[in-house]
Amino acid sequence: MDPQAVFCPNPACLASGQVGKGNISIHSRKEQRYRCKVCGKTFAATTGTVFYRRKKSSETLTCVVTLLAFGCPVQAIVQAFAWDERTVRSLQEQAGQHCREIHEQWVEQPRDLGQVQADEIWVKAQGVILWLAMALQVSTRLWLGGAVSAHRDRHLIREVLERVRACALCRPLLFCVDGLSTYVTAIRAVFREPVRTGQPGRPRLRPWDGIQIAQVVKRYAQRRVVGVERRIVQGTERTIQWLVHLTQGDGVINTAYIERLNGTFRSRLAALVRRGRALPRQQAALQAGVYLIGTVYNFCTYHHSLRVELQLPGHRRRWLRRTPALAAGITDHKWSVEELLWYQVPHPPQLPKRRGRPAKAFLALKAEWLT
Ligand SMILES: [Zn+2]
Repeated sequence: MDPQAVFCPNPACLASGQVGKGNISIHSRKEQRYRCKVCGKTFAATTGTVFYRRKKSSETLTCVVTLLAFGCPVQAIVQAFAWDERTVRSLQEQAGQHCREIHEQWVEQPRDLGQVQADEIWVKAQGVILWLAMALQVSTRLWLGGAVSAHRDRHLIREVLERVRACALCRPLLFCVDGLSTYVTAIRAVFREPVRTGQPGRPRLRPWDGIQIAQVVKRYAQRRVVGVERRIVQGTERTIQWLVHLTQGDGVINTAYIERLNGTFRSRLAALVRRGRALPRQQAALQAGVYLIGTVYNFCTYHHSLRVELQLPGHRRRWLRRTPALAAGITDHKWSVEELLWYQVPHPPQLPKRRGRPAKAFLALKAEWLT
């Protein structure tokens, strides 16, 4: 137990979410509980992790989540570990929700994306088809998020683009998408900034400069690609070529990177779809599953094409392998699945609204903790 590495999870506490401030002490080693000196509350070492209130050992839980993240059928886990199916399902959903919070904290930070590819695939559930839309940053292969819907419509596309926007800086940005016209209107609607003039009323929205949109439309005959048409919908040929060269080295406008990721997700998702459940439940389970797969892909798996060659003294060479999160500069090492599940996402304190003048003692505490 290390009190310097944990924070107070109590949202009503002023020291909530702050690490290494010396406010945490060990309450009980036997029960694995810490105590916060600011609010006086005790909490379990597993609070905020996937292991919270679970009876199985952390090794077993990590093993099962790893199997799920790589597409192992739930029935196989039920047989191998002699677990109840509901336990596996609830663990899967909880791990997915946990990964989503990690994604929102680490990946959804403004960064210069360069080129983004987006695409949608369908996933077969019982009696229905669900759509999954995803986006990827080409230069680092970083998965930027996904949206699930029963329909392949503007809401689905808009939701995935909102995720991309949360990860984007207002810099030259190229979108490579398929021929679905919804992307063009949705990109133009999402990538806008309010112009504040100080006048009353809703501010005017100005589109981002430097947004380039290219479409790659494939023609099929008997399930084979017989022709590829590339269109520039927005932007200039010169800027697009520059961004393509910058983010993928060479080549032409394509959607190959997202298509490869689609393949990875498709093979792993099949096992996560539930049978005989109502549609909203299916949708929520799939959404959680998508974030579990996506976060394990971003943080825990080396990507072959991201490796870089190191020149060591004496003409020696070594390959440095990287995960997408490492390539994007989010982290400095490859995370293990166990690390991912143990990670506690800090939340800012949510203090209750107070009436009247606050007490001096409260103001002193606030000055000490909220800096
Ligand atoms: Zn506290």
